[in-house]
Amino acid sequence: MDLTFNESESAFRDELRAWIKANHPGEEPAGEDEGYAFRRDWQRQLYEAGWAAVHWPTEYGGRDATLVEAAIFNEELARARAPFPANVLGLLLAGPTLMIWGDDEQKQRYLDPIMSGDEIWCQGFSEPEAGSDLASLKSKAVRDGDDWLITGQKVWTSGAQYSKWCMLVARTDFDAPKHKGLTYFILDMEQEGVEVRPLRQITGDPEFNELFLENARVPAANVLGGEGNGWTVALTTLMNERAGLAFGLQVGMKVALDELTEELAASGKLDDPMIADELGALHIKCEILRLTAYRGLTATMKYGQPGPEGSLTKWMWSQGNQELMQFATKALGPQSLAGGSNWGRSMLRSRGNSIEGGTTEVLKNIIAERVLGLPRKK
Ligand SMILES: Cc1cc2nc3c(=O)[nH]c(=O)nc-3n(C[C@H](O)[C@H](O)[C@H](O)COP(=O)(O)OP(=O)(O)OC[C@H]3O[C@@H](n4cnc5c(N)ncnc54)[C@H](O)[C@@H]3O)c2cc1C
Repeated sequence: MDLTFNESESAFRDELRAWIKANHPGEEPAGEDEGYAFRRDWQRQLYEAGWAAVHWPTEYGGRDATLVEAAIFNEELARARAPFPANVLGLLLAGPTLMIWGDDEQKQRYLDPIMSGDEIWCQGFSEPEAGSDLASLKSKAVRDGDDWLITGQKVWTSGAQYSKWCMLVARTDFDAPKHKGLTYFILDMEQEGVEVRPLRQITGDPEFNELFLENARVPAANVLGGEGNGWTVALTTLMNERAGLAFGLQVGMKVALDELTEELAASGKLDDPMIADELGALHIKCEILRLTAYRGLTATMKYGQPGPEGSLTKWMWSQGNQELMQFATKALGPQSLAGGSNWGRSMLRSRGNSIEGGTTEVLKNIIAERVLGLPRKK
């Protein structure tokens, strides 16, 4: 892949850079709810200026940006230390899944409010007994006239407390083989049969939740991709998760690394050769990750949607980010772990990086079997 930007990519970057400079929302306030509201306002601002989902087709309100321009968008946002929009799962997962599997009515109904941030989306895949082995999930959906009634439990549902809609996979056929009996639903979170219970993480924030469903009602029109086709539709969501999130997040890692380098330089700690050495190694890892992420774009351009290669970027990012945060707290010293320090919080939050969006072990299996073509374990 050629990494020099052509004329239109450079023009795109310059226009965006100027817009961010004129509209930067400032620093995100502390506190989970305050931060969320701030990022939601920011998304509205991006939406009104036509920047909320640059890679979406113009017919859905995007800019038809190429994948390289979408990458530039992420890099510029991070470079300016501007926040990510609030509806990240809607923009990165639900939107692209709807565009591939949704019928015209579904696209018409759901895409615009995803982009504006008026309707937030969450992802109801994992269950207490079904995480990596998602296809063994047990939440069941039974037909009731024109509706489906869903009963079961989901867990680790990020952002459920703010969400209007949930991308939910449930079992509709208990006799079929486990991958075949699933259906993908668009579940309205604002109803009696849905209960959201927050789970507090090691950081102290209840970023994710348990989701209890008791005869939650979903109209048949809210099935996405057809009854019994839930596994294939879910794979579209997961591929977008690994490729899309990893691309944005590797940029976030670079920003954190630059900030750390500045702090260490300001405190004179860069003169310590041990620290300089580790920092140098992290900069190299970050650059390798960036180039690997761009290579993933080439594959996506070739095949039309992200492939299994996204697993490699996601694995490298989670490992690199955990190393970076661990090193930051070590190099900055105990005060970085004191209450109120962002580094302490980020270090604790990074522990989940190798679990969320697919565990490292599972990603390695995918890379071994589907990228390298190694034999499957019997
Ligand atoms: C911060 C965070 C946010 C999340 N947000 C969401 C969300 O919004 N929506 C959602 O649906 N889920 C979410 N998840 C859940 C996440 O997708 C699951 O935690 C993940 O898929 C792993 O499932 P599990 O926790 O059940 O672990 P398990 O699948 O039970 O795995 C336990 C251990 O066994 C290993 N293992 C399992 N299978 C294999 C195998 N075949 N080969 C080798 N090792 C294996 C795993 O690597 C892991 O170490 C989130 C998780 C985190 C940490």
